[in-house]
Amino acid sequence: MSFVCNHCNKSFLKESSLIVHSCEPRRRQQEKNERGVQLGFQSYIKFYELMQGSAKLKTFDDFAGSSYYRAFVKFGRYCVNVKVINPPRFVEWLLKQNKKIDQWCRDSIYTEYLIDYLKIEAVDDVLLRAIEYGLDWEDTTGNLSHDCLRYGNSNALTHAVVSGRISPWVIYNSASGQEFLSNLNTEQLAIVWPYLDVDFWQKKFKDYPADQEYVKEMLKKAGW
Ligand SMILES: [Zn+2]
Repeated sequence: MSFVCNHCNKSFLKESSLIVHSCEPRRRQQEKNERGVQLGFQSYIKFYELMQGSAKLKTFDDFAGSSYYRAFVKFGRYCVNVKVINPPRFVEWLLKQNKKIDQWCRDSIYTEYLIDYLKIEAVDDVLLRAIEYGLDWEDTTGNLSHDCLRYGNSNALTHAVVSGRISPWVIYNSASGQEFLSNLNTEQLAIVWPYLDVDFWQKKFKDYPADQEYVKEMLKKAGW
């Protein structure tokens, strides 16, 4: 009588050996519900949809048995760690830009995507993220969330801009955003500048006056 691992088919004489046994297929099943693994799995599906035009939906087992598994899971975990904004859109962008999968976890590539993405995202998503940022700041500092750009630490706020938490929509269309901008030192300005491309944003606001009015009004009402 023997005990067989139903993940790798290896057999054992003692049940206790099977229980402590560990193999890659078993590990992959055990980590299936981790957020990073799930994001990797969704990216793998998207990859097949967009690149291979494959209509047949891939299962998790297909994914776990794929030679791409490690690369996609690494990417999914990267998305979790750096809090990628809109991971499905990021994957579409990577595929459209023909970025090779070994480049997908590079910060420089994510920055390139983010600067592009912030220019086209819906303003409701912009506002939602700003409000979330304000509430997080309120939780950690005890101040009112709508004051985050007014009284927040300028290095932390600089980071909030380059990580996309605070969009140029918010900086340019709120009183506290303008204040924040005028208080930055040269070094901080250089960091946020690629995100705040004045020529682009001026044209954007001119082309979408209703969106700009909406953002301005919402932020004003909220006390930003
Ligand atoms: Zn096994």
